[in-house]
Order: sequence, then C-alpha cells, then structure tokens
Amino acid sequence: MTLTVRNPATGEAIETIETPGPDEIARRAARAEAAQRGWAATPLPERAAAIERFAAHVEAQREPLAQLLSRETGKPIRQARAELAGLAPRFRWFLERSPAVLAEQVLETDEASGTEQRLRWEPLGVVANISAWNYPWFVGVNVFVPALLAGNAVLYKPSEFATLTGREIARGMRQAGIAEDVFAFVPGGGAAGEALLAPPVRAVYFTGSYRTGRRVNERAAAHLMRVQLELGGKDPLYVTEDVSIGWAARAAAEGAMYNAGQSCCAVERIYVHEAIYPRFSEALVAEVERLRVGDPLDEATDVGPLCRPAQLEVLEAQVRDALEQGARLGCGGARLPGPGAYFAPTVLLDCHHGMQVMTEESFGPVIGLEPVANDEEALERMRDTHYGLTAAVFGADRERAQRILSQIETGTAYWNCCDRVSACLPWSGRRHSGIGATLGDEGIRAFAAPRAWHLRRPPMPREEAQP
Ligand code: NAD
Repeated sequence: MTLTVRNPATGEAIETIETPGPDEIARRAARAEAAQRGWAATPLPERAAAIERFAAHVEAQREPLAQLLSRETGKPIRQARAELAGLAPRFRWFLERSPAVLAEQVLETDEASGTEQRLRWEPLGVVANISAWNYPWFVGVNVFVPALLAGNAVLYKPSEFATLTGREIARGMRQAGIAEDVFAFVPGGGAAGEALLAPPVRAVYFTGSYRTGRRVNERAAAHLMRVQLELGGKDPLYVTEDVSIGWAARAAAEGAMYNAGQSCCAVERIYVHEAIYPRFSEALVAEVERLRVGDPLDEATDVGPLCRPAQLEVLEAQVRDALEQGARLGCGGARLPGPGAYFAPTVLLDCHHGMQVMTEESFGPVIGLEPVANDEEALERMRDTHYGLTAAVFGADRERAQRILSQIETGTAYWNCCDRVSACLPWSGRRHSGIGATLGDEGIRAFAAPRAWHLRRPPMPREEAQP
C-alpha cells in the first residue's frame, strides 16, 4: 500500500511512501512487545538520556523541520517555527518531573507486624499513539515522550496529513539511540489506526475528532484497553462590556484564526456584551481583514491553506446556513480561487444557536459572533454544547470571569487569554472533548499503571508459637 502526501498550498504531490498493511502492523506490535521488556528494564536516567538526545536532535534540526511541517500541512512558516520552539518547555517538564512522579513510594509501615505498603508505577507495555496533523509535534511529544520515559514501547501512527513529519520524528528517535521496535513508526490512515487496536497493545492515546475518537473507544473497549482521547471543541469566548476593545479584538482574532483556525482550542464562537457589540464587531472585522493570507512558506503569511481540502465544503455549508438564517457577513465568506485549499478568513455577525457555525466545530478560519444582554445569557450560550475543551472570558473583573467559567464544564478556563497550552498544567477535555489528560503530572502518570505491594516479614519463631 502507498500514501501520497500533498502540499495543501498547491495540491501537488510531495512524496509517495509505502505503508504497512494489517499483517505487518501486527508483526511490528509483536516485535514491540518483545522489545518493551528490555526498555522497561533500562533505568529511568538512561531512558531520560535518550529523550534528551532526541530533544537535542530536534533543536538542531529546527529550521528544516519547520519548513517540512509548513509544506506538508500548510501551516505558516512563522507558526511552524513557533511549534518547534515550543517543544523545549515540554521536554523540560517531562524530564524534570518524571523521576518524582514515577518514584516508588512507601505509604505505610507497621513495625509491630513488620508490614510495609508500597506503591510502584509500572509501564503499561505496548501503547498506540494515533495522532493528529494540526500540531503534530505538540500532540505527538505530549504522548510519546512520557510514554517512553515510563518504560512503554510506542506504536506511533502520525496523521496521514503529517506523515513526513512523523517519519522525521521516528528518524530522530533512531538517532537518539531508541530502537526501532521500541518506537515503531506506523504510517497510514484510518485502516492503520484500526489495526493498532488489538493486543498486544494495552492502551491507546488518540488525538483527533470526536467521531473517530468514539469509534476508537468502541473498538478498544472490546479488548478492555486503556483509552485516552483528546478530541475537538467548540470553544466559546465571552467579551464583557469593560474590556479594552482594541486589545480584545486583536486577541480574539488571533485565537480564532491562528493556524487557519485549525487548533483544537481555537476560539470557535464569540459572545459579546450588547453594550459594546457594534464597536467590538467592527474592531474584530478590521483585525481579521488585516491578516495576510498566502503561501505558507512566505514569512509575511498569517493564514495559510486548510490542511484537508475536504474541510472547505464544511466551511461553505456553515457560512451558507448562517447567511440563510439572517447572519450578516463581516468579511470573507468563500473559498479563494487557485489550486490551494484556501478559505478567506470569515467573520459572521448576528449569529444565533440555530446556526451550525455556533454549535458544530468549524476547524477553519470562520468565526461567528452573537450579542448577549448579560452574564446569564452569555453563560447559557457558552454551556450550550456537547464539547468541553476550553472556555474564555475577556474582561476587567477576575472574580466575575472565574464565577462564569466555573459553571462551564471544560478542562481549561482562560481569563484574558485563549488558545494556549502549558506543560505544567493537565490538558484535558470533558464530555465530547475527551477522556484523560496529557501534560502536567497527570500526563506522566497516564502512561503508568500502579502496582500495590503488601510486604510482610515472616513471623518470628516467638510469634509463631503464640496461639
Ligand atoms: P481525525 O479524527 O480525522 O484523525 C485523527 C487520527 O485518527 C488520524 O491519525 C487518522 O488517521 C486516525 N483515524 C482515522 N480513522 C480511524 C479509525 N477508524 N480508527 C483509528 N484511527 C483512525 O482528526 P484530524 O482531522 O486528524 O484532527 C482534527 C480533529 O482533532 C479536530 O476535531 C481537533 O479539534 C482535534 N484535535 C484535538 C486536540 C486536543 O488536544 N484535544 C488536539 C489536536 C486536534
């Protein structure tokens, strides 16, 4: 089988690569199972040294890797560089925290009975990492680095839209001295992903859409596999009447349009207090119109093409649906001519929840605005979703923002910021946005299983004699 990787800015083929079929994937999984035992027996400092070598390799190759990421996914080059540069704090977090988080603990000792109760964190075995293309470095590193540090072998399947980046990740692992069977590269699409969901794989860490995540969960359930899912969102932003409008419009435009809106935590819908709605709308449209759309390899480009051309139709349908139901077009609204998968950055005004653009993930450079009369109305709208990834409030009053955000079921809450992820905090989604967490201490323990040890010294002859 083969897979052709295309440049979304031009539609041209970059490379065609061989992909393994289900039998070969099963063989790789069996080899990973055999290799994992040796890797788990390698002391943590040695595993950490290998990850440090991988991190150094990535650092040394930053520019060519950013160029490749940009060509393969359409990510503007400055944003591709930012993704590579943003890896350092994540490597640091995992390397510094893993020894403490995975350390064996003595929880209770009882001298009288000679009993000791210990907790040890052990690897799970072979784990599958089914990854996404929108931030292949971030979402990949969040999984395979702590998985390897904890002593697991990893079957790594990059998204079919980030295959060449995935191959570079596998090459980097090899360069760092991590055996091919301990970090096994499994390129391919959905069929390759499905083939990974069988023993000896013990756990699956999936990043992608709700639809596919649900399917993965169902298949993994048949084997009682541990499942972690990082899925989509319909992340709301509420702008209160006391903000600095220019600042808020700039930040909202960036939150909605960064990476052409293809971020899991992109701002996907905006509610604006009616007292500032006209002025904020105008400022947001001006900010979005200022964005430069173009060749992702051009240093000046802010918004590149969509990575998956098929998403153009989803955006067109959302825009059509909104306009038919009375939304006003602030700017954009259509795909751009030319061979690439470009969609004009789009602002839709006067939206409501009868429109798809306010309820279904857009995952593109399209944003809808709705005016609200007060905090209660904003809260009601923000809560009206099956997703639960992030929510944000822009406003002067921290207590007010925290009160609102506490009532929305999300893994992350933002006050006066959005679209950001930090290594020290767990990244998680609730409801249709996922199960489990990466990053933070939780994102290290996620790759280990607790073993409870009850250890009691044998009875003394004197104790034995007692009735
Ligand atoms: P997708 O669901 O189409 O694909 C994700 C991965 O699943 C790919 O590797 C794909 O090959 C694989 N896959 C497809 N069908 C499969 C099957 N039947 N069994 C097993 N694997 C299968 O998603 P995508 O288009 O790559 O990514 C976009 C989505 O990911 C968006 O919804 C976005 O919000 C979400 N996302 C979430 C996070 C997060 O941290 N929560 C991060 C990035 C992306």
